[in-house]
Amino acid sequence: MNSRDDKLTPAELSWQDNTPVSVLFDDIYFNKAGGLAETEYVFLAANQLDARWQALAPDSRFTLAETGFGTGLNFLCARRLWLKQAPESARLHYISCEKHPLLPEDLAQALAQWPEFESGARQLLTSWPAPLRGFYTLVFDDGRITLTLAFGDAAEMLAELDGQVDAWFLDGFAPARNPGMWSPELFTQIAVHSRSGTSFATFTAAGLVRRGLAQVGFNVDKLPGFGRKREMLSGIYASDPEPTPQQAPWLARPEPLATGERRAIVIGAGIAGCTTAAVLARRGWQVDLLERNPAPALEGSGNPQGALFIKLATRPTRQSELHIAGLHYSAALIRRLAVEQAEIGDICGVLSLALSEKEIRHQQQLIDSGIYPEQLTRQVTRQQASELAGLELSAGGLFFPEAGWASPPLLCQRLLADSNIRCHFDTPVESLTHDAESGLWEINGGTHSAPVVIVCSAAEANRLKPLAGLPLKPIRGQTSQADQPLHLAPLKRVVCGEGYISPALDNRYCFGASFKLHDLDLDVRAEEHQANLDLLERAIPELAQALDMAAADGRVAYRATTPDYLPIVGPVPEFDWVMRRFARLRQDSKWRFEPGMRHLPGLYINAGHGSKGLVSCPISAEYIASLVDNTPLPLPRRVADALNPVRFVIKNLIRRTI
Ligand code: SAM
Repeated sequence: MNSRDDKLTPAELSWQDNTPVSVLFDDIYFNKAGGLAETEYVFLAANQLDARWQALAPDSRFTLAETGFGTGLNFLCARRLWLKQAPESARLHYISCEKHPLLPEDLAQALAQWPEFESGARQLLTSWPAPLRGFYTLVFDDGRITLTLAFGDAAEMLAELDGQVDAWFLDGFAPARNPGMWSPELFTQIAVHSRSGTSFATFTAAGLVRRGLAQVGFNVDKLPGFGRKREMLSGIYASDPEPTPQQAPWLARPEPLATGERRAIVIGAGIAGCTTAAVLARRGWQVDLLERNPAPALEGSGNPQGALFIKLATRPTRQSELHIAGLHYSAALIRRLAVEQAEIGDICGVLSLALSEKEIRHQQQLIDSGIYPEQLTRQVTRQQASELAGLELSAGGLFFPEAGWASPPLLCQRLLADSNIRCHFDTPVESLTHDAESGLWEINGGTHSAPVVIVCSAAEANRLKPLAGLPLKPIRGQTSQADQPLHLAPLKRVVCGEGYISPALDNRYCFGASFKLHDLDLDVRAEEHQANLDLLERAIPELAQALDMAAADGRVAYRATTPDYLPIVGPVPEFDWVMRRFARLRQDSKWRFEPGMRHLPGLYINAGHGSKGLVSCPISAEYIASLVDNTPLPLPRRVADALNPVRFVIKNLIRRTI
């Protein structure tokens, strides 16, 4: 696919009375007379959701998927029914594909018609992603409902989905007006993600849809249509599951544990550990969090402030896709928490200055690539950048309006305030062993045990035997903190260049950071303060000159990095077995293996986030929790695969370095 296709064309609407109409497809989004009643009849009732949700056992998981999110009316109706009928401990995952997302102002206008959905509409609008291909996850109702918006063509996005669906809403304009969507590939993908008993409902009764669904294994029934429409379709998947399309066996998802016990240990209380614990707790898991320090966020996540900053690529890479999904997720999280406690962070926007010829060229290429929509980033002149920042900057650059800063320690403390999380501080983990008989992981010979353990201890992770060999490396970084000069206007945005600085927190600026490989000392050094100040001087000279560095503080911490600069997130494989089983890769990197993979049961890792932890940890936590809790993944499969801890063994076999 051409990378230009990554930037999506937003929907162009015309309005007939209060009915939104698509100019491209010449079809309506919802029925003027009773859009709500139509959704309830066509999608909710025909899938029998009322009765199915009432009958759910506590802690059930249910997945709904939709083709064509449109205005979100179907989602909001389903949400209302879920909150009314499903047990409080059950969780709904709603996945919706959308190739032409509405512009925010159109979405607002469409949803303004349904005052009963005011709160859901507001949430949708505050976290509405930029029109860029990818998966974006929004959390509603304290986690009772998770919405994954899969922006892109339905068949293509479903091919990237890892998860099974219980009910389908097949929306998406009449087949005669939108034949591109109702393709054989779409029907195949629907079957791939269905299991026996999965239901579907659609407003159309077109022969093409009826035959397409029957061919891939659905029993299809015709029902009377809504209002003036004669017929519609619904049905149940009644075939053997379609084989999942070929993927490398080492990337297979681990089997869910036989024990239904929802109890996990998280090791490490930095951002990775705290976000992981919080997402699991929100899903009803009991979490014991073990931390060697006396409080959370005292190591790599201990700087008073960090920037939500991402690097884009001129062709989308798995790293840029992770960062874009992560930025969206983290920004929503910080926005939500900052409502209660403003010091947690601020989505005030980030300016990325073009301070060198190389960076000027790179930024121009990004803009010329045409991939990135303005809602994500736009070019600003030096003057515009200075106006945004409130201080004179030395260059223009890119402005990311939906980015900002957070205070990692305050964020961590807030995330741990959950009755499902028990913190054990001053608890260093020296050993991690699996007891095959009980199926439990034991910490330090049995002081703590649980069926599931997630290791979130950054560069320390590979000191635990089952994780030995994972290439995690610490890199020293020193940040500097100095008082906000009173005679100077306050900085209003995060400014990144070669270093970064955030708007002041408690009248102190935090900026940095140095980057020292092979240096494990924790001492604060005058020369690194000076280096940080020099970086600041290149970006905001008037601020650098006004700071009183004699009274500056510093803080040293380590970032944990990996050879490919992607974090290590996922199930931990049985490394020796993998090496033996896939040894043939040494001779033939294209060898097609029979399916089969072995993981250490219940063991996961979430580490190696480098200096991008604020962006990549929260979405990685959601991803890990989806694996552990056996729900659809919030990341496209190829992005999740790129984070898999198994990748190093496979690469090394192919390169014959092991
Ligand atoms: N379910 C929506 C609601 O509740 O408002 C209404 C959906 S509207 C009738 C159809 C939607 O399908 C439009 O938003 C359109 O952009 C989207 N669509 C059309 N072709 C698509 C494709 N190939 N992949 C994904 N979405 C598509």
